[in-house]
Amino acid sequence: MSKKRKIVTIDGPSGVGKSTISRRLAAQLKFTYLDTGAMYRSVALKCKQLNLDFTDERVMEGVLERINLRFEPAPSPDADVLVFLDDIEVTTDIRTPEISMLASKVSAMAAVRNKLTVLQQQMGAAGNVVVEGRDTGTVVFPDAAYKFYLDAAPEERASRRILQLRAGKMLVDEQKILEQIIKRDNDDQQRTIAPLKKANDAKLIDTTGIDIDQVLALMLNYID
Ligand code: C5P
Repeated sequence: MSKKRKIVTIDGPSGVGKSTISRRLAAQLKFTYLDTGAMYRSVALKCKQLNLDFTDERVMEGVLERINLRFEPAPSPDADVLVFLDDIEVTTDIRTPEISMLASKVSAMAAVRNKLTVLQQQMGAAGNVVVEGRDTGTVVFPDAAYKFYLDAAPEERASRRILQLRAGKMLVDEQKILEQIIKRDNDDQQRTIAPLKKANDAKLIDTTGIDIDQVLALMLNYID
């Protein structure tokens, strides 16, 4: 890997397989895995719990000043990182379709992005990290050693998300999941601050029709 800090960023729209691939790549490189989406999801859950007006920047500044967020490594390589909000485990609570949509809304707020971006930069400062999100190659770590942008057709992304939700024993309305994915990506791409987009120097991988092992092989080949 190059002389730059050993940071790999993986960005892309929802349901593209970023989490599974980021976890596997981190394990392969013996790097830490940083799931930035889990942070936005936790803020969304906090807003829901307190029934807050997340469109008010001052309200959100207050939330971010007090938020107590902690991560612990996943119990197995294929599991999500363990997330604790105010010392209560919320690992599965933050994965519902409702929280996905709310996370997208709160993530458009400057107060939220400013604070979480700094937190992510601190968490990855030592390097040897795979960072996954929407703006990790463009805003959080623009000087990362390697940047990837994953994409896939919306229908394929919706199918993957449906399988994930079913595996987590959640009830799924297939048409609604596809609509939500399209809306969330659109909102993430259109927002003013740190919109979802490919960094100019990111390697684009279209994962439509190829499996996780093939994506991983492409990435490892690109890295070294
Ligand atoms: O990746 P995940 O689906 O967990 O992200 C949930 C939401 O959090 C995204 O739809 C996006 O709005 C927001 N997010 C973001 N920037 C990141 C990671 C996630 O805005 N770096």
